[in-house]
Amino acid sequence: MSAKTDPTQLSSFLSYVTPSPTSPWGTYLSQVDRVIPYLGHLGKWAETLKRPKRALIVDVPIEMDDGSVRHFEGFRVQHNLSRGPGKGGVRYHPDVTLEEVMALSAWMTVKCAAVNLPYGGAKGGIRVDPKQLSQKELEKMTRRYTSEIGIIIGPQRDIPAPDVNTNGQIMAWMMDTYSQNTGATATGVVTGKPIHLGGSLGRVKATGRGVFVTGREAARRLGLALDGARVAVQGFGNVGGSAAELFAQAGAKIVAAQDHTGTIYNDKGLDLAELVPYVKQVGGVGGFKGAEAMDGESFWDVNADILIPAALEGVISAERAARIKARLVLEGANGPTVPAADDILRDRGVLVVPDVICNAGGVTVSYFEWVQDFSSFFWTEDEINVRLDKIMVDALRRIWDTADLHKITLRTATFAVACERILTAREERGLYP
Ligand code: GLU
Repeated sequence: MSAKTDPTQLSSFLSYVTPSPTSPWGTYLSQVDRVIPYLGHLGKWAETLKRPKRALIVDVPIEMDDGSVRHFEGFRVQHNLSRGPGKGGVRYHPDVTLEEVMALSAWMTVKCAAVNLPYGGAKGGIRVDPKQLSQKELEKMTRRYTSEIGIIIGPQRDIPAPDVNTNGQIMAWMMDTYSQNTGATATGVVTGKPIHLGGSLGRVKATGRGVFVTGREAARRLGLALDGARVAVQGFGNVGGSAAELFAQAGAKIVAAQDHTGTIYNDKGLDLAELVPYVKQVGGVGGFKGAEAMDGESFWDVNADILIPAALEGVISAERAARIKARLVLEGANGPTVPAADDILRDRGVLVVPDVICNAGGVTVSYFEWVQDFSSFFWTEDEINVRLDKIMVDALRRIWDTADLHKITLRTATFAVACERILTAREERGLYP
């Protein structure tokens, strides 16, 4: 059997991608297959979920500081627009592929529906290591990419946002480029903007806050006290770092942290008041003095109650799933757990709060930002955090009830709640022509 494609495993084939059972799109397809038995008559429309509505591949040429010209591959995929405009981040990473962006766009469709935001799902990316670019080159690449995808984005069509290696400055350039091209300032074309350009208070930390809120609720249901709980975090960027701070404030000990610069461990708990500024300054956790350095693979053996993968896809393999000590896994990243690992964690009694609800706090505050931009009336940070908390708690309760009812994992239950909403909209809108 080829390691690449196995027709018996993956029900739907598209000629333009070759997923494997552990690749992002392959992972997503098997998650869809698992929910179909719970969709009732809506199952008729399930194939809709297995193909993106629209995928745009763009060439992004820029003149580099040394006078040479380089071309980058850019993507914007709109997976599903049944419930509203496309929504989802833009990722800059050297490993970005069309297949990855397709999966990330599909997870956005499910995520937005899981928290009942009036959005479909989309995602974008550029295959680039942004750390190799100067600020000027980064700006040129961002502007050219925005111009190229300008034919499908817009405040009512598809609204990008930050994702891995993109931030408020990049959103400001995107907003400006789109506005220049269309002849009117369009703050609502992207979210995650700087505050004085129509950004929202609380947006930067919203994804991490959502991870904390869902984690707090899950821990309560498990009878796991946060005070004194041991937490291991993979990825100490916007998501992992913010979540770690909130868990520490609740009394938890962040015993291990890992990112692309290293893996660090402190049995007494890392001092975040020192670690957070250190990471801001040097760009990662590696070399932090208040901890011991650890071999990267041993991170998965750490004795922790809560594990937060908050970096990239596919890191929880079947082999690692068998070793994880935590009782609770909070998926801050998109797609960190492959399907075989999901089964192992379930059989071992490890509760996984899946990405499509766990990290939905970011897009929820993106939605608040978009609404504030349209009404030109801005909320306080407190109002934002209170509303975010309520949306996440209510959504998780409904998902938990669904999981209990059918005796299924929280992932399949989240897909069940979300896909019912997506496919009901699909059915009500009808097929055209
Ligand atoms: N990139 C984030 C995510 O994966 C946020 C997307 C958004 O705010 O649109 O959920």
